[in-house]
Amino acid sequence: KQLLNVKNLYVDVEEKQILHGVDLSIGKGETHVLMGPNGTGKSTLGYALMGNPRYTIKSGEIWFQGKNITEAPVNERAKAGIFLSFQNPLEVPGVTLSSFIRNALEQKTGKRQRLYDFKKELERTMEILQMDPSYAERDLNVGFSGGEKKKAEILQLLMLKPSLAILDETDSGLDVDAVRTVSAGIEEYQKNCKGSLLIITHSTKILESLSVDHTHVMVEGKIIQTGDASLVEEINRNGFAKYEKTEQNQ
Ligand code: ADP
Ligand code: MG
Ligand code: MG
Repeated sequence: KQLLNVKNLYVDVEEKQILHGVDLSIGKGETHVLMGPNGTGKSTLGYALMGNPRYTIKSGEIWFQGKNITEAPVNERAKAGIFLSFQNPLEVPGVTLSSFIRNALEQKTGKRQRLYDFKKELERTMEILQMDPSYAERDLNVGFSGGEKKKAEILQLLMLKPSLAILDETDSGLDVDAVRTVSAGIEEYQKNCKGSLLIITHSTKILESLSVDHTHVMVEGKIIQTGDASLVEEINRNGFAKYEKTEQNQ
């Protein structure tokens, strides 16, 4: 059963066509990895799936849980269960990490969250991510290190329990310990939330403890190869050279 169906998607950014016909299907509970050279449109796909208005869908369709959401605004997609963790998380002065997550949870569920229960759950989850509890009352991402920002993103993921999480280079710039902790957080999401994942990454470190169902390679705004978990290893060894346009390959 498919959770997400992307059909022949064309996306423009600032009048420039970036995605040229992307097809992608993600089933319930599946983990997909998206790899590709820099500037090839991976983040663009993430933003387009989330409904960022700067990314204009020129043609094609996005279906989620059996509904056509191609035109749906960001908040509707979040409510439906799509989550995007950013490559560069924003700093939000004046809003604590705790209140930000509680508010997002109330928006998503349409229900008030009892403060006591919420705080208990937040504390338990921060422990998994080895985050000091004091971070809950700090302004969102303000003065957080790169690693702390990424952990805060995973904390949101585990608290919001979306049905599809798109993680855009959540592992970039992290030291080995932080990668391991973030990876443990993602594993918790796989196992306990039974969520689907689209992991955009350049490294295999974050994938070591995760089970990967499918790997996709995007080059110049198109998914040009799909394989199983072993494709990650192959790309790690050989890079993207074989996909590059050379005289022989053309
Ligand atoms: P990737 O994530 O694969 O590195 P991106 O999706 O970030 O690639 O970028 C694809 C192309 O789109 C790049 O040429 C980039 O410069 C361009 N692009 C992405 N976002 C914007 C934006 N907001 N404004 C202008 N150009 C953009
Ligand atoms: Mg499958
Ligand atoms: Mg990117």
